[in-house]
Amino acid sequence: MNKDLILKYLGYRKSMPDAMTEKLIDECILEVKSISKFKYIYQEFKEPLPFMLENEGYMKYLSGATSYLLVATTLGIDVDRRLSLYEKTDMTKSVIFDCTASAYIEEMADNYEKNNLPYKNLSYRFCPGYSNTSFLDNMKIAKYLNVTKYLGISFLSSGLMVPLKSMIGIVGIGNTKRRSCEGCLRMGKCEYRRDGTVCYKE
Ligand code: SF4
Repeated sequence: MNKDLILKYLGYRKSMPDAMTEKLIDECILEVKSISKFKYIYQEFKEPLPFMLENEGYMKYLSGATSYLLVATTLGIDVDRRLSLYEKTDMTKSVIFDCTASAYIEEMADNYEKNNLPYKNLSYRFCPGYSNTSFLDNMKIAKYLNVTKYLGISFLSSGLMVPLKSMIGIVGIGNTKRRSCEGCLRMGKCEYRRDGTVCYKE
């Protein structure tokens, strides 16, 4: 597994971790890989859904696309259980485990989209919350995909997903867009950009 995204999430932008932290990251990678039950589902749509028509962020992302996929993925509930255990017993490890699991689901979903989806010319995965869209739109996409039935994902009243390491999004077909910071609410106060980097894989 590529460690760059884990290090970004841990806040290493200009420095490198010490040997002890490196060792903990390696341990967490092995652990996350061994307990994750990665699943990914998708469904193709031709026309924008009503909630997409109401937000420029979705429409800009879909411009030029011939169709798009609604997608959902999860690492499963065992990752949450292990994280909860570390939060009670080892705070340092819990932070590293959390960042490792977040990076792992991104990497697994990227690989799945690159190697397993039967489509060419895919854009990056656009998740609700990007480009001034609402994080709560996850729930709307979830209904179309029936993520509770197929992935065991449910929602807290805050909109957070359970399992925590789950992602829902849209993948444009035929317009190969690359992720950017355009429309991000953190522009102007973003600690990643201040340090000359970005929060996503470039
Ligand atoms: S790097 Fe900063 S401004 Fe760009 S998308 Fe990430 S949080 Fe937003």
